[in-house]
Order: sequence, then structure tokens, then C-alpha cells
Amino acid sequence: MSGTPTGAETKALKPRALAALDALAAEARELALRIHAHPEIGFEERQASAWVSEALERHGYTVQRGAAGLETSIVARAEGRRPGPTVGLIAEYDALAGLGHACGHNLMAAGMVAAAAALRSVLPDLPGAVAYYGTPAEETAGGKVLMLERGAFEGLDVALQYHAGDHVSVATGCLAIQQLDVAFTGRPSHAAAAPWKGVNALDAVILTFNGIGALRQHLRPDARIHGIIRDGGQAVNIIPERASAEFGVRAQDGEYVRCLAERVEACARAAADATGARVETSRGVFLDSLRYVPALARVVHDNALALGFQMDERFVSASTDLGNLSQAVPTVSYTLPTCPPGVGMHTREALEAGKAEIGLAGMLNDARLMVLAAIDLLTSPETLERIRTEFRGNSRGAALA
Ligand SMILES: [Zn+2]
Repeated sequence: MSGTPTGAETKALKPRALAALDALAAEARELALRIHAHPEIGFEERQASAWVSEALERHGYTVQRGAAGLETSIVARAEGRRPGPTVGLIAEYDALAGLGHACGHNLMAAGMVAAAAALRSVLPDLPGAVAYYGTPAEETAGGKVLMLERGAFEGLDVALQYHAGDHVSVATGCLAIQQLDVAFTGRPSHAAAAPWKGVNALDAVILTFNGIGALRQHLRPDARIHGIIRDGGQAVNIIPERASAEFGVRAQDGEYVRCLAERVEACARAAADATGARVETSRGVFLDSLRYVPALARVVHDNALALGFQMDERFVSASTDLGNLSQAVPTVSYTLPTCPPGVGMHTREALEAGKAEIGLAGMLNDARLMVLAAIDLLTSPETLERIRTEFRGNSRGAALA
């Protein structure tokens, strides 16, 4: 065989790859349970990344540990019979502080190792390459943002991810978010004996919240601004010298989020003016919206159908660092059920499902779909070209069906 496999050859590769995946099921279940039993929060996923690296190496991948200067990140690659596109499997393995693996990242890490290993078994008959990306700290710092900035995804043609959930869907988007810190410095004085000598930093925080409250009427329906007070003063009998708050500003597109962040900063400056306190604002992590590429969603949708799943389109009303990757590389995120209907992520029920039969069986379905989609992407230059064309153009909002 030379060149790109024909349709018939591709057809034969899929059952072979799925049979290889079935043979890996026990190993994938064991790894998922092991990661679930040893939850590690963002940038501390030392055991999980070591276990994943070891498994990928055993299955023929060249593994770069600590990629992009992040201790717990992984970039692993296996090559096909000749150069061609690189398909990336985007895994996560961080847990939630205090709760454990209640977002199913153990199912992503382990299931994608199995998918990678199954693809490796047919790669000698495929062009291109498969890459497994272990991306740390999805729940906190957004490891993908740093990996992207540092070039870890260079050369990647298309990115596949699945995420735990209670539904059958392909994601059409998610909310972009700008994290924002506001800190005020006033002047302390005795709160009863000489309040007129003080400058109240807490008043400035409260006025910031009130300013944002007034702004709300004028927000687009998709916008969200939510905040907490980090420091509300030092003692009840002292006029607060320092006070601070943290905000999340979200909307369906990154550009609008940046506009709103400026408005929130203006509310803080106005509060500083009103109280005489000094204000410092700083922007934390920015997670972009998820860019939807219908032609790529179609590949996932059609293969899901072949596995017996009718996929819906679904907008995800949360944020993820996958959004940033999706602005740089055509990316798709999908879900096959890994928990009972009605169970949301970041709950005790999701934690339970992550080690239950429903979670492990769902993980293997997700991995099957990933294998099938990857084979189509590696063997169909026309599909890849359509994906690239849509990605270059403005594909936002186009429908799947
Ligand atoms: Zn998650």
C-alpha cells in the first residue's frame, strides 16, 4: 500500500483499531481507578502524569515529560508510515481541591491512553502521526494556555477531546472568561474615636460591587459577572486599610469579555475616586471561547452514529482552557454519557460516577469514538481541507444538521 489508504482500507482499519481498544479495556479501567483513588490538584499531577507517561511509552509512544517547562505536562508522539497530518488527543488529569475527581479527568487521562495505544496499533498502515497531550491544571491555572504560549502544540493539525458528562453531545462553544483582581488601599483610623481620619478600603470594594450591579442591566444576556470579597478589612474597630475582591467576567466571545473587563475596572476606579482609596487592578488568566468547526463536529457526529449514539449540539455554559487551543488549532470536544442523567460536574454524584461502571463504560465509548474520528482525519485529506477552510473563515454559529 502506498499513499493515502482507500475507503476500503480505512474501513478495515477501524475494526482492527477497535479490537485493539477492546483488548486494552481492562488496563484503561485500572488506570482510571488508580488516578481516581489518588487525586492531585493542578500542577501537582505527578503520579498521574508519571503513570500516563509510562503507559504511553509501553505502547510505543515517544514521551516528552515536563513539556513546555511544566513539570506535569506530557507531549507524546507516535508516527505513521509516512509524513501526514498530526491528530492530537487532548487529555487532562487534575482533580478538584477538596473534592477529588468530580470532573471525570481521570476518565479523560486513562481513556485517551487507550485510544492512543489502539491508534498506535494501526499507525504502521496510516499516514501522519498521533500525539497525546497531557495538559495540567485545567481546573485552576489553565495549563493549555501556557503550553500554547510556549509552542507545545506546534505542528498539530487537529485536536480531539472528550469530556465527562450526562449527555450525548458535541460542544458548539463555551464561555470566555477574564479573571480580574481589584485591591484598594485606604488609611486606617479608629472606627469610633476618629473615623473621619480614615479612608475606607472596604467601602471602595462595596461600591465596586454596586457599580457592577448597575452595569448588569446593560449586559448582553450571555454575559456573567461574579465576584467574591477576598479581604474585607482587618478588624471591626479599625477603618479598613486594605480590601480586595476577585471577579470572573464571562461571555460567549472573548472580545466582549475584554470590553466588560474594562467596564469592571472603571467601576473600581470610580469607587476609588468616591472613597479616596487607591486602587490597583490586575488581570489573571484569560480563557477564550471554544471555536466551533462544523466539518470537524461532523466527523465526530457521524462516527458516534456508527457506534449507536445520536449526538446533539450543545453550548457549554462554563469555561475551559481548551478554548484557547481551539482559537489556534481546529478543535472539537464531545461527550458520551459517563454519569446518570441530571448529574452535573463538580458534584459528589459525579465523583462517584468517575469510578463506577457507568463512568468506566462511558470512558471506553468516548475512546472508541476518538479512535474512529482520528482514523478518518488521518486518512481523508479532503475532510481535513474542509476543516481548515472552515477554521480559517468565520464558522461561528453554523449548524451541524
Ligand atoms: Zn473538567
